Amino acid sequence: MSKILILGAGYAGMTTAVGLEKISEPFTLVNKHPYHYMATLLHEAAGGRGDAMNYTVPIRDVLRKPTSTIVEDEITGIDREKKQVQGKNGSYDYDYLVITLGWISEYFGIPGMAENSLSIMDVNSALNIRNHIEEEFKKYKEDGDKRHLTIVIGGAGLTGIELVGELVDWLPELCLKYGIDRNDVDLQNIEAMPTILPMVSEALRDVAAKTLTERGARLRTNTKLVKVDPGVVHLEGGEAVEAGTIVWTGGVRANPLLEKAGFTVDRRGRAKVNEFLQSVDDPHVFIGGDCAWFEVDGRPIPPTAQAAMQMGPVLADNVSAAIYGQPMKPFHFHNMGTLASLGREVGVGQVGGLPVRGVLAAMFKEGSKVKYLWQLGGARLTADKTTDIVHI
Ligand code: NAD
Repeated sequence: MSKILILGAGYAGMTTAVGLEKISEPFTLVNKHPYHYMATLLHEAAGGRGDAMNYTVPIRDVLRKPTSTIVEDEITGIDREKKQVQGKNGSYDYDYLVITLGWISEYFGIPGMAENSLSIMDVNSALNIRNHIEEEFKKYKEDGDKRHLTIVIGGAGLTGIELVGELVDWLPELCLKYGIDRNDVDLQNIEAMPTILPMVSEALRDVAAKTLTERGARLRTNTKLVKVDPGVVHLEGGEAVEAGTIVWTGGVRANPLLEKAGFTVDRRGRAKVNEFLQSVDDPHVFIGGDCAWFEVDGRPIPPTAQAAMQMGPVLADNVSAAIYGQPMKPFHFHNMGTLASLGREVGVGQVGGLPVRGVLAAMFKEGSKVKYLWQLGGARLTADKTTDIVHI
């Protein structure tokens, strides 16, 4: 029997595994943690909303067949010649490999950024941001140094803006808890481009900007971060901002293991795949989610959760087709839209080509979580997890 090995239990890895269980195909899934996390919700955990573990799902709660092997390990290398993957705890042979190892922060070579900033990369790093901000507030109470109350978020894409949205909701609570005047807290979002949220219409950007600034955030567009020292962000033009908390949300790149394994990669480290999500370099390797360089009309699709979730079932069917010599299915990306939460109750976005804003956008966003949980584990998982994570 051909051995199928899936690397990574993100959106693409999990939906691939669910697809393989549906067609009764055994596989081994290797993941760093025994749980899957909902990466698109981690800004909520970083911004003080709910318990961070509420954004996770134990892998075994989803993949329950005895023929599905789950291994907890961190992958360190891929040897395509030997058809073997190395992990910290062991090595794993495969006949067919599915690489869905997600992304890391892209620092664009900005000096000191990697060393001196926090970023939302997984559950622990999201938690770290929330704990760090609270610690800074405690330090301010001890020494009265206002730098502890300055929070810089670098980058105004979806991650940065959604994090700012969470913080404008959480900061008043934190101020109340520590007896701090909210006006003493300086929350700055710093963006190099002329606008925030380039992926939504100008009208929606204006709504987002108004919502966030009215609640005390400073949105500084046309402002480029060029260097970071411990506790200091340097901007193009010479200004230095001293900040107790510096979070980088300036972009992502694919897991560097792909480049190391010799795949053909784009400038964001994603490995090129054909229409079947099969590596152009190796017919025994399929690649999905943020690791895949998949083009529509000559342009790579952005690394989003919706693309990863749509890829999973196709990856499952195509690995199986490859094993049995059946025809594979081409992947077609259906852009369902974009939703950005602006805190707990409102948001902006485009759904099915139509603009949505306010509470309606927040409800659509909650709806997308429920839909995803249904895709993973049907009614059982949806009922279990929505009591934890639905906030409407
Ligand atoms: P991004 O690349 O979308 O945005 C990063 C922003 O940082 C850009 O606006 C960029 O101009 C800015 N930037 C880069 N360098 C800078 C500098 N030196 N100084 C100041 N600003 C700088 O990154 P992201 O928001 O992390 O998103 C990554 C991917 O994940 C995207 O494809 C996004 O669509 C997806 N995502 C989706 C959701 C969602 O669907 N709700 C949420 C988060 C992320």
